[in-house]
Amino acid sequence: MSQTNLPLTGRTALIVGVANERSLAWGVAKKLHELGATLGFTFQGEVLEKRVRPLAESIGATFVESCDVANDQDISEVFSKVKARWDKLDILVHSVAFANREDLEGRFVDTNREGFRKALDISAYSLVALAKAAEPLMESHGGSILTMSYHGAQKVIPNYNVMGVAKAALEACVRYLAVDMGPKKIRVNAISAGPVKTLAAAGIRGFRDILGQMGEKNPLRENISAEDVGEFAAFLSLPGAKHITGGVHYVDSGLNILGL
Ligand code: NAD
Repeated sequence: MSQTNLPLTGRTALIVGVANERSLAWGVAKKLHELGATLGFTFQGEVLEKRVRPLAESIGATFVESCDVANDQDISEVFSKVKARWDKLDILVHSVAFANREDLEGRFVDTNREGFRKALDISAYSLVALAKAAEPLMESHGGSILTMSYHGAQKVIPNYNVMGVAKAALEACVRYLAVDMGPKKIRVNAISAGPVKTLAAAGIRGFRDILGQMGEKNPLRENISAEDVGEFAAFLSLPGAKHITGGVHYVDSGLNILGL
């Protein structure tokens, strides 16, 4: 297929949340690029810039900008640049989460006010802030906003603790945003991914055990990859998904259906 015939040719996508080549956001970016989308990236902090910039350049990204999603000024500057370069946005990928390391082990009840605030701000509120900034660039033609959740939003997973609460808030944000933005044909969805070995996952105590056990126990007996998440993210951005919004979609080899 020539470049002009690809399904996402002419579409623009802002990817927020690549840390390195293992990131779920990178799996998504690669797939959107493969389907013809034009991409821009944000990164957080100079250390990650060294990782993200070469990756972004390897797939011809239009821009790579610094953005701390806890900072409204940063968000506003990034979207000014999106407007200046593209004048519209079709796809926004939010693949960001953070909690203090001490809040991802032990007892949830020990989470302090500041740890709770920080986890909810960066991992859930940031979707609202980014969606609000994206809306004016999507409203003339519709768009697709995607975020990443995990089953710890719905069920208690050892050590996931405050991040489970943040993901529950994130999933509720998806529903409320979908209703606010639906009349403008802007769709908002979450992908609830099975465990994948990434930088963020390494911060959760016992993650390696979860990864090992889940691969053995899920119905398909197979762990998922960032590329699998990318495949589904791409589908959610295609016309075939034009009536899909407000959902939390599992890409986890069926793990979430198990009672034990
Ligand atoms: P990752 O470490 O590659 O990505 C996390 C990203 O969050 C990083 O790029 C980091 O820079 C960014 N981030 C954190 N705080 C930020 C801030 N203040 N401003 C801007 N960016 C910030 O790990 P990942 O596993 O790819 O995580 C991406 C998303 O997928 C997260 O929401 C995570 O909870 C979710 N998720 C991951 C898994 C898994 O097993 N890896 C499973 C389900 C859901």
